Amino acid sequence: MIEAVRGDITEQVVDAIVNAANSSLLGGGGVDAAIHRAGGPEILAECRLLGGCATGDAKPTTAGRLPARQVIHTVGPVWRGGKAAEAELLASCHRRAIEVAAELGCTSIAFPAISTGVYGYPVDLAAPVAVAAVRGAHRPPVELIRFVLFSQSHLDAFERALAEAK
Ligand code: ADP
Repeated sequence: MIEAVRGDITEQVVDAIVNAANSSLLGGGGVDAAIHRAGGPEILAECRLLGGCATGDAKPTTAGRLPARQVIHTVGPVWRGGKAAEAELLASCHRRAIEVAAELGCTSIAFPAISTGVYGYPVDLAAPVAVAAVRGAHRPPVELIRFVLFSQSHLDAFERALAEAK
């Protein structure tokens, strides 16, 4: 099942939440700051041991005080106008996060709208890429894939993408 809801990703009661991190994995703004603030210092301590993360890849830590079990840190592409493999890299973030979640035995995973904040990816273009990527990557034991959108306009974009993909 793939769904989109409006909310705060740090509050999701799922096995894994995905963080839109930067390649250092040592802290950023937006959703990354919210996850570290709510989850506590253990997450950053684990991140320090990971040696960063390439754009399009994903690496897990535990989730500290968050209700989730794991945080899967992925690095989305910075939007550069659409001709710098942004869509391919954004799709790769979603595929790799689901692969990592499946390896960890997670049955549910929540994604924010990766790259659509500071990284500037237009959400109307990002949403269909994200939806197609998770559809293609869906695999056991992952059963529930939830997009958690902070704003109504982002939720609208993801709902449109889900409807169009049906
Ligand atoms: P990026 O650098 O990949 O663009 P950002 O963290 O700047 O990442 O933004 C990604 C998306 O996450 C944006 O759409 C932003 O509105 C949203 N966001 C920020 N905080 C939260 C949160 N606590 N829960 C869910 N989404 C969030």
